[in-house]
Formats: sequence, structure tokens, C-alpha cells
Amino acid sequence: KSGFVAVIGRPNVGKSTLINSLIGQKIAIMSDKPQTTRNKIMCVLTTDNEQVIFLDTPGIHKPLHKLGEYMVKAAEGTLKEVDAILFVVDATEDLGGGERYIMERLQATKKPVILIVNKLDLIDRQSVLPIIEKYTKAYDFAGVVPISAKEKMNLDSLLAELNKYL
Ligand code: GDP
Ligand code: MG
Repeated sequence: KSGFVAVIGRPNVGKSTLINSLIGQKIAIMSDKPQTTRNKIMCVLTTDNEQVIFLDTPGIHKPLHKLGEYMVKAAEGTLKEVDAILFVVDATEDLGGGERYIMERLQATKKPVILIVNKLDLIDRQSVLPIIEKYTKAYDFAGVVPISAKEKMNLDSLLAELNKYL
């Protein structure tokens, strides 16, 4: 199985750390070269079960100026071409306007969106479920996987969930 996957989320939620951790445990090729003006390959991950091309998707955030508006359109173009979307959120931060804005944009894509609740290592076990409930009330996710990108927790579950949509 193979496919294209967009990794989205507010700055500092752990997108780069996630990609690095996936590369750390599997064979991957990193690329910083822009493929087009509107998307960029973060890495190509090859495992026994799948080959996944992860795309960075800048510009999904609320635009602050005209260039921002262009980037939002470009990001939406990228999302039209992928097989699945990983929406990464920070478990230590409340669901806020930044996330709501992104989820509104995602509605239009009609693509499977997997919620990745990151930084599991920083929160109590019992607070995981309430966080997930908040997000799933706000959006109809195809799947939900709590992880710690930094501690490499539950990354196999992430790949297994992703595999369904490739
Ligand atoms: P990005 O802006 O979404 O690419 O976020 P980064 O990958 O650059 O991560 C932002 C910060 O969060 C960095 O200081 C990371 O070390 C930290 N971070 C990312 N993932 C985790 C995690 O799972 N646990 C903890 N404790 N910190 C994390
Ligand atoms: Mg980053």
C-alpha cells in the first residue's frame, strides 16, 4: 500500500518531531526541496506494509495578511490531493480558536482526517479521554490516535490507523 498524507496542525504541536520519530524507527528519505509552490515533501517512509509520502502543509493557519490568504488557498489545494490527513494537536493545550479554524477548513476536503493527540508523556492518563471527547464533539474524525512523538509512544498504532486509508 502507498499514499500521500498531509501533516497539519498549529505551530509547536510536534509535527516535525513526529516525522523525525517515524524516520528514526523506519527507513525514510528526508527532503527539504519544495516540490511545488504549494506543498513540500517532508519524508518518504517505507515499511514492510506501506510507503507513505508525508507532505508538509504550511498555510492552514488563520491568515494574518494577503500572502497568508494565498497560502491558505494553496494549502487547501494540497489537501485535495492526499489520501489522508493527520491533524496533530497538543494534549497540553486546550482546544482553541486555532484548532477550530483548521477544523472548519478540513470540513471542505471530505478526506479522512486522523486526530493525533500528541505529547501524551506530559499529561495524566485520565485526562486523555476528556481531551479526545472535546475534539470528537467538534469534528467527525476517521480515527483518533494518542501519541508521544518525542518519546515514540504509540507510533505503530498511528501507522496501522493510517494504513486503512492508503
Ligand atoms: P511543529 O512546529 O509542529 O513542527 O512542532 P515541533 O516538532 O517543532 O515541536 C515543538 C516543541 O514541542 C519542541 O520543543 C518539541 O521537542 C516538543 N515536542 C514535540 N512532541 C513532543 C512530545 O510528544 N512530548 C513532549 N514532551 N514534547 C514534544
Ligand atoms: Mg515543524
